[in-house]
Amino acid sequence: MPNGPLPATREISVIAQDPSVRANGKILMAKISIPAEDLIAGPVGYRLQVVDYDSSSRAYHGAHELPAELGKEPDAWQRGDPRIVKDYRFHAQNGYALIMKTLAGFEFALGRRMGWSFGRHQLKVAPHGMVDANAFYSHQEEGLVFGYFPGQRGDTVYTCLSHDVVVHETTHALIDALRERYLDPSSPDQAAFHEGLADVIALLSVFAQHEVLEKLLLRQRTVKASPALVDRKDLTPEALRDSALFGLARQMGREMQGARGDALRHSAELTPDPNLLEQDEFFEPHRRGEVLVAAVMNAFIHAWAARIGELGIRGQRRFPVRRVAEDGAVVAELLSTMWIRALDYMPPVHLEFPDALSAALTADLEVRPDDSRHKVRQHIRESFASYGIKPAKTSRPAEGTWKPAPEKLSYERVRFESLRTDKDEVFRFLWDNRDALEVRPGAYTEVLSVRPCIRVGIDGFTVHEMVAEYYQVARLTVAELEKKKISVPKAYVRALREEQQAARARRAKALATPGSLDVLERAEHAPFLENDDQATTPVYGGGVLIFDEYGRLKFHVHNDVFGSRQSARLSYLWESGQLEARRGSARLRGARLSAIHRLRAIDARRFPAEGW
Ligand SMILES: [Zn+2]
Repeated sequence: MPNGPLPATREISVIAQDPSVRANGKILMAKISIPAEDLIAGPVGYRLQVVDYDSSSRAYHGAHELPAELGKEPDAWQRGDPRIVKDYRFHAQNGYALIMKTLAGFEFALGRRMGWSFGRHQLKVAPHGMVDANAFYSHQEEGLVFGYFPGQRGDTVYTCLSHDVVVHETTHALIDALRERYLDPSSPDQAAFHEGLADVIALLSVFAQHEVLEKLLLRQRTVKASPALVDRKDLTPEALRDSALFGLARQMGREMQGARGDALRHSAELTPDPNLLEQDEFFEPHRRGEVLVAAVMNAFIHAWAARIGELGIRGQRRFPVRRVAEDGAVVAELLSTMWIRALDYMPPVHLEFPDALSAALTADLEVRPDDSRHKVRQHIRESFASYGIKPAKTSRPAEGTWKPAPEKLSYERVRFESLRTDKDEVFRFLWDNRDALEVRPGAYTEVLSVRPCIRVGIDGFTVHEMVAEYYQVARLTVAELEKKKISVPKAYVRALREEQQAARARRAKALATPGSLDVLERAEHAPFLENDDQATTPVYGGGVLIFDEYGRLKFHVHNDVFGSRQSARLSYLWESGQLEARRGSARLRGARLSAIHRLRAIDARRFPAEGW
């Protein structure tokens, strides 16, 4: 081991997009920077462990020993020799490196360490976990499973070799760790968000590699020169959309479309239309998610084109491809960081796209007050508006950012030092300020997380914050809901009543039949027998509290557990078949992410009703 301080990062080779994207017969490779660590065979590191076990063939491919540094990587890996497609040791490196890169991107953006949602330190990763044109994140299995399948040319296609697929699945795991409630049925937007944001982060991760942008620009260029130059007319937003978005979509292995749902092509094809989200087709979660992807990618193209417009001297017609590509990579990185930071500024339940937009604008403004160089906030606002997504109604009218927290709050009885780390102290703050913060004492309240963080802008500007999340739940009868001005679908009330009567009849019959119930069951059933009005429906609420470094509340982003969103939510859940009138009390149908993802691989569009 060398003397002196250990390096914090290391360079490592990965496939830039997937094995089908090539230059001069070689797979296009990229060198990325990831946190440095001393791996053991597996590889197993401090945040993940590769377990190369195939559950389809029940074969274990052994623990892989990775090269300790870039210089020790086999030549074939660095050159992109097509034979690496069959090299399982390289597969392990590719998966490991991209997952660590994604995790590091989240930790940088959020300014703190990230845990996995399942409470363990290491994520399990199976690079060849099953024979399937699919990959998924599973909370239950505490890991990521990548499939492989026969390709059209008799070869084998490995999902663990696709940059966007690996980052997409890792992003699901990270969103799940930050916002566990986003998997609950709530609204069409929330159902679409997990998939949409996973695609956004995955595509921006691909475009943040200048190697990829350079190659896409070179294919389109009309000027032949060395060093490579590109003409200004090939750098308009329309030309960039064609070369970068469609160009990459065309090159991505077509066989992989099952696994990734072809989000890039679909979203690139979605031309701006403010009424898109109102159309029936776009209530299906994956289609709706593509609108979010389109809005972000459209902003990327415009911000990049505007940046190029400022390059060089006035009247200059040609630009070095490398320089143009590097500028695009910077814009992609900025947007990616902005959207990851946004997660901290989003309500923990009942997310809608306008909230996501206001969260992104606020998160970015807090850390990068000066946006004059890239104007990403302006491009995001304009692009989202062109797809009909405006900032939240409760945001500041001109900027679209969240309004500051109420000024009149009581801090007297709260200890700042414990507020930074202690859930009970945060709960006390909520309790002391329950009226000002619309935290309803009639609902069960729980503080889910308390996280201190230090965010660093690209200019080195730092912001110290503390982020706490809380959650509220209440189960109300129809009469109680109506009293709180939450409207309940009529057909649902009817179904609830019928179910109630049927359940009552079943119980009465069971009670009348000797020996059908034991003593305990009898005691449990008896109290409900006579009361028809006991059927309850769950309503959820909650918020995120963002404190500054002095312990003052800066922002409170929340949804009132008895608020106006509940009526729309109940009606959406009922109409989409996710609210069941059952066993005397309403239930929400649970959804498993892996199940959703599998469905998408088959063909989500054929089963729109089952998407969630
Ligand atoms: Zn997904």
